[in-house]
Amino acid sequence: MAWLWDDELEFGKFCRECDQYLALDYFTERSCYAGGRDTICRPCQNYQNKLLYRLRRENPAPVDGRCETCGGRRALECDHSHDTNEFRNWLCRSCNRKNRKDNEQIMATMRAALRARKEMNK
Ligand SMILES: [Zn+2]
Ligand SMILES: [Zn+2]
Repeated sequence: MAWLWDDELEFGKFCRECDQYLALDYFTERSCYAGGRDTICRPCQNYQNKLLYRLRRENPAPVDGRCETCGGRRALECDHSHDTNEFRNWLCRSCNRKNRKDNEQIMATMRAALRARKEMNK
């Protein structure tokens, strides 16, 4: 399971998208990420790029250029569900990042709960 990051080994990591354990070479180097690698593998990244291209074409950005969450007129990003690959809405960078942060918070809580349970079973 991809969110068991504690169990990651030195020579590879789990792709957050396809849940596969892959060698580090499969992940694009990114200095801003933890471990210096992207969180999803290259094949998944290619797939996501193609998917985003299609979603953008099928769901044109709002003509008035406003974020669908805060109404702000900023550069908009195409937000989609990673579970169903369906288009969600057009968000500005800060709303999109806030969404992601909420998700990361949920993941962090789950990991903490799991760790606590492991401790108890010792
Ligand atoms: Zn992958
Ligand atoms: Zn916004």
